[in-house]
Amino acid sequence: MKKVVIIGGGLAGIAAGIKILEEMKDADVRLYNMGHHLGGRATSWRDAEGFNIDHGLHGLFAPYTNMRRMLKRAGVKEKKTLVSNKRINLCYEESTGKVHSIAPDLRIPNPPYPFNTYRKITNFGIKNAKTIYLDMDIEKYDDICYTAWALEHGMDKEITKMRWFRFSQDAAFNWPYEISTYLTLMGVRKAVGTGKYFYINGTYGENIIKPLTDYFEKLGGKIFIKKKLTELIHDGQKITGIKIGDPDAKIHGYGTIPWKDVVPVIQDSIQEINNIDALILAIPPDCFRELNWGDSFFWNGFKSIENLRTVVSLSYQVWTKESVMPTGTVTINGLDEPMGSVADYKTIKDEYKNNPGIGSALEWVGQETSFENKTDDELKEIIFNAFLKVPGAKDPRKAGIIHESFNRNKANHERYLLTEPGTVKFRPRTRTHFRNLFLAGDWIRSEIEMPCMEGAIVTGINAANETKKYFSKSR
Ligand SMILES: Cc1cc2nc3c(=O)[nH]c(=O)nc-3n(C[C@H](O)[C@H](O)[C@H](O)COP(=O)(O)OP(=O)(O)OC[C@H]3O[C@@H](n4cnc5c(N)ncnc54)[C@H](O)[C@@H]3O)c2cc1C
Repeated sequence: MKKVVIIGGGLAGIAAGIKILEEMKDADVRLYNMGHHLGGRATSWRDAEGFNIDHGLHGLFAPYTNMRRMLKRAGVKEKKTLVSNKRINLCYEESTGKVHSIAPDLRIPNPPYPFNTYRKITNFGIKNAKTIYLDMDIEKYDDICYTAWALEHGMDKEITKMRWFRFSQDAAFNWPYEISTYLTLMGVRKAVGTGKYFYINGTYGENIIKPLTDYFEKLGGKIFIKKKLTELIHDGQKITGIKIGDPDAKIHGYGTIPWKDVVPVIQDSIQEINNIDALILAIPPDCFRELNWGDSFFWNGFKSIENLRTVVSLSYQVWTKESVMPTGTVTINGLDEPMGSVADYKTIKDEYKNNPGIGSALEWVGQETSFENKTDDELKEIIFNAFLKVPGAKDPRKAGIIHESFNRNKANHERYLLTEPGTVKFRPRTRTHFRNLFLAGDWIRSEIEMPCMEGAIVTGINAANETKKYFSKSR
């Protein structure tokens, strides 16, 4: 049997394990996750009062083919589990004070934008369709910010100031920086192209992660939770073992209080696991940085990672007695920073649709940059005031708040890659300078590149394929 160890129980690690277990009969696959919830940043769970708490608003886009195929193999029924946004993408427009519809590919807003604006955007789209959908060499655009590129390619300056444009530019959480043109085009082409997306009818934990991890175990894989990797042991060519320990329950309380930046491990609990044939690391960049301090051979091969930065995402969920969202609306984008998008699950998730006691189940998402010094209450004030600019929106504070959950995802395992222009080249690839160490995770280079759930799954599949290749070569 080949002993394959996977560290990280997010979508990347789970996908890597499933792929290996499906395709290798002689693999003993063990997955270790330090968190109490499997699913990493894409999970959601129920709190003590039964409310569905999300790590952050998560939509699943139609072209997520690898994710959808894996869910199908794990027995997830799409019709029951996914609820569609019906291609309705709305954006608040500051200049007109209205909510407009954005057409499916995020490039062409439909009327009621003024006809002239619409025509200019259509022309821009037609002129650049080849680059967006066909150019094989778009990597060359990674040094360029999207606005600069759009202006050079005939986009009207006034249009780049519009909210929907800024929303497409912020697609990978990097406001107030600029997402690189490469990532924007990649995202449009590979991940978000059709504008049709889905929410989960319930929690990610119950509906996505549980079926996937059950499938993982049914295939013969073993999962260990509350186990944190602290060090990799190597002989200069290969990984020979790892050190793992138990996170200190006093510090993190397993879900009752947020973890600190670095999750401490109880020193006495650290144990060595040796005789590893292959190791897949599927952990976020800041967790990776915690490993092997002072080990110059290890870090010489990963120097470029120093150039990557991460951001703190924000999520805010509010349940109100009365309905507060404009009628018929599910999601509105383009709100004032720092939380530019809000969704109301009332009309789409069965547990809210069927509950007359809940008028709206709102969730905002965004990131913290430039608002670090604001208190949670100050941020809530900004968020509510921004929401009230939307025609037809009502004040959640006057609608009877039943429950709320405000999160700044600050800890190392929660932070999100900042996709600044010029940084794609610094992101590591699946293969490493150790023959049997492979990397997965939304920040690892792949054919998706956008740090998203589909990207994470693709990197997991790539790591599994490289592991299989390594075994077949070393036979
Ligand atoms: C607020 C927010 C909103 C988002 N919205 C969307 C969206 O709408 N659509 C979309 O597709 N994507 C979205 N994403 C991105 C998506 O969540 C991530 O890209 C994806 O979940 C990353 O998966 P992963 O497996 O790479 O990493 P993770 O999910 O972070 O998994 C890594 C796992 O490794 C564990 N770990 C870390 N260090 C160690 C260690 N030393 N030992 C053991 N275990 C360890 C962690 O606990 C975690 O469980 C969003 C992200 C955020 C933060």
